[in-house]
Amino acid sequence: MIIGILKEPAGENRVSMLPEQINPLVKNGISIMVETDAGINAFANNEAYVHAGAQIVSRKQILESANILLGYWQISDQDFTVTQPGTILIGVYQPLFQYKQMQKLAEFGFSVFSLDMIPRTTRAQSMDVLSSQANIAGYKAVISAAHLLPRYFPMFMTAAGSIPPAKVLILGAGVAGLQAIATAKRLGAVVEVSDTRAAVKEEVMSLGAKFIEVEGAADAASAGGYAIEQTDEFKQKQRERLAISVAKADVIIATAQLQGKPAPLLIDEALLKLMKPGAVVVDLAASTGGNVFGVQNNQVIKLHGVTLVGNSQLASDMPSDASKVYGKNVFNFLQLILTKEGAIHLNFEDDIVKGCCMTHNKEVVNERVQSLLAS
Ligand code: NAD
Repeated sequence: MIIGILKEPAGENRVSMLPEQINPLVKNGISIMVETDAGINAFANNEAYVHAGAQIVSRKQILESANILLGYWQISDQDFTVTQPGTILIGVYQPLFQYKQMQKLAEFGFSVFSLDMIPRTTRAQSMDVLSSQANIAGYKAVISAAHLLPRYFPMFMTAAGSIPPAKVLILGAGVAGLQAIATAKRLGAVVEVSDTRAAVKEEVMSLGAKFIEVEGAADAASAGGYAIEQTDEFKQKQRERLAISVAKADVIIATAQLQGKPAPLLIDEALLKLMKPGAVVVDLAASTGGNVFGVQNNQVIKLHGVTLVGNSQLASDMPSDASKVYGKNVFNFLQLILTKEGAIHLNFEDDIVKGCCMTHNKEVVNERVQSLLAS
């Protein structure tokens, strides 16, 4: 049994498993092949992998011989023809957006397990890559905003005058938003939070932030914990209430997402113009359109006196810890599909294995991807 660890595409700093995480697999008799310099941007060099029991080889050699390929992003179209049919691919494939690519991967005969599709259940928590990476992104978003803000975060009373605390508005209190609240509070900011799921109100308040109440949000009970699209009437009410907080905010951290759909636009141009000069927006939903008008994915721009940071992969800017927790998620998932002897055993009765399997036996097997392909 060979597991391959691939180098990620240019611009990505994470690696799918760190040297310290491969040792238990090696002890289980599994051969680990690592692409040259795969971990270099996450401060894990080739020597460390060799020391842990791996072989450093070329990409071609891994693609040709591995039974399981680990990555964060999906392999490229050029890789398809070199990779053996039947190979298991594990990564974050964003299949609800990349559904046409799933069809291609199925045709090549790969079994794709996309860890971003793991059900958000208690048992699956240790494999939940969306949570492990969003937690880091939420933290880093606040740190980045503090770095760019021309003001202090905490309150200061000095002989040279008083400085009021920064006001931070957080849009969306999922995993990233909750970590952003905690980080902004630790830095001394006053924090307000908007979310359409009433269930998060208590969590927001327990972190010391104010929850912005807007009545009439659509009931998301059937959406597996995710939010759903809101009515125009609710959006209008939310916009009116947000205008008050936006005008006061020094920083907006935007994290609101709708699973598999474009992000909701919560701050339009008129609202953005209400922000103070020098204010900072960090939009983690940038890759799916963003919550804030004018935000451009992977760019930092200035618009109406506000610095807009569009970055949905902020975890990649903290590659040591991001790789550590991602690698742990991958390792825990491997325990579900490997026997004690280190052989592959795919149990599709297991809701986690079934939930994140996108393609198998030359077919797209996930129902949501199937219906997107049929539409
Ligand atoms: P997400 O990234 O999909 O969305 C971020 C937040 O944006 C959510 O809280 C959502 O309600 C909010 N949002 C969406 N539209 C909005 C709007 N128009 N206005 C304001 N806010 C809006 O969320 P996530 O962090 O991936 O979490 C999704 C769900 O999964 C949550 O219910 C979370 O508690 C749950 N979860 C469960 C587990 C587990 O049990 N294993 C682990 C992590 C998360």
